[in-house]
Amino acid sequence: MKKFKTESKRMLELMINSIYSNKEIFLRELISNSSDALDKLRFISLTKSGLPKEFAIEIFIDKTARTLTISDNGIGMDKNELENNLGTIAQSGTHALKNQETVETTAKVKDKPKSTNSPTPSELIGQFGVGFYSTFMVANKVEVVSRRYDADKAYKWLSEGIEGYTIEETDKNSFGTTIMLTLKEKDEDFDYNDLLEEHYITSLIRKHSDYIRYPIKLGDKTLNSMVPIWKKPKVKVNENDYEEFYKNNYHDINSPLKTISANIEGLVNYNLLAFVPQKAPYDLYAKEFEKGLTLYSNSVLIMQKCSELLPDYFAFIKGLVDSSDLSLNISREMLQQDRQLKAIATSLEKRLLTEFKKMLEKERETYEKFFDEFGVSFKYGAYDVFGINKEKLQDLILFKSSEDDKYTTFSEYLSRMKEGQDFIYYVVSTSIDAAKRIPQTISALNKEFEVLYLTNPVDEFLIKSMMEYGGKNFASVMAKDVLPGSDEEKDQIEVATKKHENLLIDIKELFKDKVKDVVFGSSLGNFASILRTDSSISIEMEKILASMPGALPVNVPKILELNPTHSLIEKLKAYHKSDKELFELLSQLLLQQALILSGIALEDNIVFVEIINKLLVK
Ligand code: ADP
Repeated sequence: MKKFKTESKRMLELMINSIYSNKEIFLRELISNSSDALDKLRFISLTKSGLPKEFAIEIFIDKTARTLTISDNGIGMDKNELENNLGTIAQSGTHALKNQETVETTAKVKDKPKSTNSPTPSELIGQFGVGFYSTFMVANKVEVVSRRYDADKAYKWLSEGIEGYTIEETDKNSFGTTIMLTLKEKDEDFDYNDLLEEHYITSLIRKHSDYIRYPIKLGDKTLNSMVPIWKKPKVKVNENDYEEFYKNNYHDINSPLKTISANIEGLVNYNLLAFVPQKAPYDLYAKEFEKGLTLYSNSVLIMQKCSELLPDYFAFIKGLVDSSDLSLNISREMLQQDRQLKAIATSLEKRLLTEFKKMLEKERETYEKFFDEFGVSFKYGAYDVFGINKEKLQDLILFKSSEDDKYTTFSEYLSRMKEGQDFIYYVVSTSIDAAKRIPQTISALNKEFEVLYLTNPVDEFLIKSMMEYGGKNFASVMAKDVLPGSDEEKDQIEVATKKHENLLIDIKELFKDKVKDVVFGSSLGNFASILRTDSSISIEMEKILASMPGALPVNVPKILELNPTHSLIEKLKAYHKSDKELFELLSQLLLQQALILSGIALEDNIVFVEIINKLLVK
């Protein structure tokens, strides 16, 4: 007896003790495996003679022996394949299981945005359709007899659960795979005897596997309609059918957030069935993530994940394309250069962009849900590759703004801009709440400017690379000279600057290694001092850059701004004349405060505490 690999064993345990309510999914998994095996052989038969032209899946029920058997005349497996395919769970599943404990995407902020969703066991079953192993939810003994289409010998793989499995040579006069399940005894969860009832099996097939393009036979009856759902007239398909199809084929326990089905005629003709999931897969932004749509030619499968069909910013889309304009026996290498395929990809990108625009205009709520989950893909897409997709994507991007904290597009923001407003204002912070407490935000809001909240690490990269929208430049509320002051404020600053020229010079001298300039400012709200930058890099960006692996130290020139009307500054003026030590201590405190307000870690906490204490006891 051979033992299962560790991950397989864990998956098996999950299955055997599964409280997963959808035990019957094992059937659609087996049928789908058979269908894949038939696809593979059909593909080979295009170029090889002597193979069958009749492909089918057959089901047998034996009530006395309590067995349910699923058989196909597909590609079959040899001894090694039985060992490798059934002794270990599929690559994707293995990966998922490993990641379940330590979800560590390889994503770096600069390369790709981060995702933190980690799958629960039932999501795992959902996301990866652990396929074959699901048989252990209903059977206590599983026997697989298989003969590869090009082999003489057949082999039997047998397992009664967690202990392991055996493989031995056996007889099988035709090629293909036969899987016999000996069902578990009835328990409180499920009456496994149901699976021995023709009408029950029939209803399961109709429900889950109707679109399978090979006949699924029980006795002399064919149970499925065999018409792929995307070829059925739209009036004959309802939302439920699409949902069911999506869940079965894309291993998702949730229904799709949005289904797009279209028959596109033009330079190239194709059927499109695309789905936007509700939840992003946990590894969407990981390097290993494989994007792509299933590609069919005249309803015959050509390729599972055709990545050429989707730009990266649509990587989250699941679905398929079926075109009669593609040659059937095209190889993967040839596909990449295929003109028809390129034409489909171009047309598809346009179509999808239009669909998302429509969704934004007509189904705002759904779009915002979508954006919550996948918006980062569009933001990243708009600045990636030097922003070549900016024009395509900029109107699909949303930001929360101070206008009721709701999502807004850039064009909606523009339509609300005040007369004489020169900039699209934004503030970078870790959360909306934190953004609102920043003095510069407060002062922008006091001046009744709308402010966009940039809370995701990719946001500022995006805004920086966009530079402008609709002829208006973006400006951080933290930047110097972007918020126009009132005449009164301007006068105040002018007067203070003149009167206390020496004070500014002395502080500047004190901090000559730390800040570029010390000035009086007008937008400090209740705070005595803050930091601003006058370069294109903000303090937030400096932090992101510094947190990146292998980062070189970045030092953005900072300006210390003092509030001329604040009582602490009054004190400072007084100390300047009377007590050098106190003046320096208070100046230190004002700088340290400003650093803290900008979220910058202090160089030395002990020094900071000493400054406060000295000031307090004086
Ligand atoms: P998945 O289908 O997700 O790859 P499964 O555990 O269902 O995972 O199957 C593992 C592998 O076993 C399949 O990828 C396929 O190579 C092989 N396999 C399963 N069922 C059959 C079958 N009926 N005929 C041929 N190969 C099969």
